[in-house]
Order: sequence, then structure tokens, then C-alpha cells
Amino acid sequence: MRDIYLTNSLSRKKEKFEPLNPSNIGIYTCGPTVYDRAHIGNFRTYTTSDIVVRTLRSNGFNVKYVMNITDVGHLVSDADEGEDKMEKAVKREGKNAWEIAKFYTQEFVKDMELLNLIKPDNLVKATEHIEEQIFLIKKLEAKGFTYKTSDGIYFNTQKYEELTGKKYGELSTIDEVKEGARVEKNPEKKNSTDFALWKFSEKPGDRDMEWESPWGIGFPGWHIECSAMSMKYLGESFDIHIGGEDLKPTHHPNEIAQSEAVTDKQFVKYWMHATFLQIDSSKMAKSKGNAYNIKDVIDRGFEPLALRYLYLTAHYRDTLNFTWESLRSANKTLSNLRKQMSSLRNQKTRTILSEEKRKKVEDFGKKFLEAVNDDFNTPRAVAVLWEVLKSNIPSEDKYDLAITFDEILGVGLAYLPTIETKEIILPNSGLQVIVVGEVPEKVVNLIDKREMARNSKDYSKADALREKIVQKGFELIDSQAELIIRPKDL
Ligand code: AMP
Ligand code: ZN
Repeated sequence: MRDIYLTNSLSRKKEKFEPLNPSNIGIYTCGPTVYDRAHIGNFRTYTTSDIVVRTLRSNGFNVKYVMNITDVGHLVSDADEGEDKMEKAVKREGKNAWEIAKFYTQEFVKDMELLNLIKPDNLVKATEHIEEQIFLIKKLEAKGFTYKTSDGIYFNTQKYEELTGKKYGELSTIDEVKEGARVEKNPEKKNSTDFALWKFSEKPGDRDMEWESPWGIGFPGWHIECSAMSMKYLGESFDIHIGGEDLKPTHHPNEIAQSEAVTDKQFVKYWMHATFLQIDSSKMAKSKGNAYNIKDVIDRGFEPLALRYLYLTAHYRDTLNFTWESLRSANKTLSNLRKQMSSLRNQKTRTILSEEKRKKVEDFGKKFLEAVNDDFNTPRAVAVLWEVLKSNIPSEDKYDLAITFDEILGVGLAYLPTIETKEIILPNSGLQVIVVGEVPEKVVNLIDKREMARNSKDYSKADALREKIVQKGFELIDSQAELIIRPKDL
């Protein structure tokens, strides 16, 4: 077996992967809070987990992959303050919390499929593991790690240090921990880093999601769900835990403290954190309208796998700046790759390899695996793919190697070429339009006329023109920034 290296946030170093139990590797990823659609930033982190799982499996390891669905308890601030994210969605959408959680969980699973993300062996919901969470809190209480305030049961991080002799917050620098606890407003907390294990319902009966507990009616804190579910499915100690970099200062130190306080064992051996995806060089935020999701990607005529390709062109620990232009270029590159693949597939005869070429084929295979085994260096792995395609080895071998690489890259190299999109400026109105697939000149002219009618406030004419466009079999999508036109049956 080959060596695998990964950067462990605990040691802040690249370490050789030495599994706890080589015949059974456990990987846990903090999943989505299902109060809204997951955005393309979240999916950068899930794609990182996917590459880790695929790489370990390609190296022959038996991997159990677990992801949670946070459908209760995640408050607006990670430090347990503010509104419950699910209850906020209840007000926004006028549905109950159970319906919201169900809908966005289904959407999440669909989006995962669109991005070719491996289905976790266990995709587990916090609301279906309330008993396990209460059980852990009871254990923590019995061992003296908790205290009660007027709004819940809290974990005492100072007691954790005293009773276990360990430091709280080893994953982050002191500054990061302070930053994480900055929003703390609860004067009843004994230490700023203490966190809620169980929250009391303010008015029992008002919330859609609440449960009986030994401490009163309420709901679990966000952090305890990950300890309860990961340990249930992967055991008290497991190999790899993954999440986005924002979880380093608060959520993950809390998971470690409460789990190790219960078990007296090391909770996780390797912690991995994906660096945040940026949009147009700044933070993604709902308020800025740039928290794009997979639906936005599709509406603009891009294939979700082009986004996956774009993710892979940067190392998961490096900053990746998303722009629609970068996605357009990834889409084009992927289309080009697939065109090359289909022409390679058509060249059927198998050539007998010279010793030199056979060695070359073998070396390419090794080089690719070395790249992904070196802290999941996907940009290097993608470069090896291009090297193969440009090399002088026979077509069949190029094709076979690329298909093997795609078991990890997962960008659908054997699929048909992707749909092209282009951006045009309409000649009369000057409107910027994104054209997806084939749209005839005549239809483009109708859009221009419609825009001119809108500009002169002739809305009935504009509506009639829109109707005409729809009747011709096209769809007009007015998104915030641009207008998109695409054939309906694309
Ligand atoms: P949430 O649904 O907010 O609990 O986040 C789910 C996962 O996505 C967590 O692992 C976050 O750390 C991660 N995440 C959130 N925003 C981004 C981003 N902009 N880039 C990469 N990962 C992110
Ligand atoms: Zn978690």
C-alpha cells in the first residue's frame, strides 16, 4: 500500500496517515443545516470530503463515511446565541420546521447527486438521534462537566481543563477561539467558551421541534449532535473528521471537549478543514445575493460537474475565488476534455505496447495516485490527466487511464460534451443576456424588442413578446443580475 499524507489541523502539519484500524476507516463530515439550500461554498467542503473518501477507497481502504443533517439546534451564531436557524426559516417560508427540514434535505441529496458526490454510508439526522444526545449529556452531567442556567444546560470548558488535564480549543489559535466566542452575550455563562448542550423551549408548545428531557422541554445544542452521531456510527475514536474552516474555532473544539470528557479517549485522530470558497474575492453572504447554489449554476446553463471541475483546480486548503467567468471557463475545459475522450473512444484498435510505453502508462498511474495521496492535491492530479492526454501513448491507454483517474476526480469524463453558454449584449436595448445552448437569432431579437418595450413602460407589449418567446419553446429566467435564455427542453 502507498503512503498517504494529510494536513492535520491538530498538529498544523502534513502527517503520514496511520489509520487506527487499517481494515476499517471512519470518516465524519459536518453536514448541512437544512434551513435553506446548501450553497456552492458548502459544496466545496463536501467535495473535499468526497475526494478524501474516494482517494482512500482507491488505495484499497474500507471506508465508512458518515455525514449528519442538522435539522435542529443550530443557532444563528455558532456560539449558541441568537435565533434557531430552522425557526427563522419557519417565519420566512410559513411552513413548519419539519416540512422545511424535509424539503431542504431532499434538495441537498439531489444536489449531491448532481455533483457526483458519493452517498455517505450513513446520512443521519439530528432529530432522529435525540435519545443519543440526551444520553451523552446525562453522562457529562454525572461526571460534573455541566451546569444549569435559566435557558439551558451548559458545558463547562474550565471544568474540562481541570478534570481532564487537557486544553480546550487545541484546534485553533487563541485568537481564533476568542473570535469564535466574541458574540457571546449570555451573562450566565461561567466562561465565554462554554456552550449549550440542551436549550429550554422559551414557551413549550411554541416551537415545532422540542422534546422532553430530564432537564425540561427543549432541544439539543448544535455541537452535541455531531458527537452523538459520529460516535454511534464510527465508535468512540475514529480516523478523520472534516468540515469548513469556520468550524475550527468553536464547533470542532466543542465536539472534542464533550466527546473526550465522556470517553477519556482521543475522539478523532485527523482533523481536516477546507478553506472557504470566496465569491468575487469576498465573503459569500445571503444579504449580498451571492450565496449561489446548484440551481443558480444550472439556470445559467452550466453543468454542476463543471463546478466540481472548478473546485478540483484548487487545493482544498488554498483560497478559491469563484466568478461566473471562472465557471464558464471550467465548463469549456470540461467540454473539451469530453470531446477528446469521445474521439479516443472511437479509436478502437489496441496497440501492443513497447516496453518503454508500458512503463510510461504505469508511471502516469503512479503519478496521479501520488498527487491525490499527497494531501489530496487535486490540481496536481488534474495536471497529470492533461499530461496523459498530450502524451504519445496509444489512445486506448490514454482513455483507460483517464477513466481510472475519473474514479477519484468524478467529473464524468466519459459523458457527452457539455452544453456551451455565451454572454451577449443586445444591439438595441444594450441588455446583457446569457444564452444557454442553441438559441436562434429570431428569438434573440424578440428579447431585445421586449426589453425596449419594458424600457418605454409598455408592459402589455413586453408581456406579449415574452409569451411569444415561451411559445417558441424557450425559457426566460430573470435572475438578479442577468437575463438568461435557454431552450425549455435542454
Ligand atoms: P452549515 O450548513 O452552515 O452548517 O455549513 C455546512 C458546511 O459548509 C460546514 O462544514 C461549513 O464549514 C461549510 N461552509 C460554509 N460556508 C462555506 C464556504 N464559503 N466555503 C467552504 N465551505 C463552507
Ligand atoms: Zn459537526
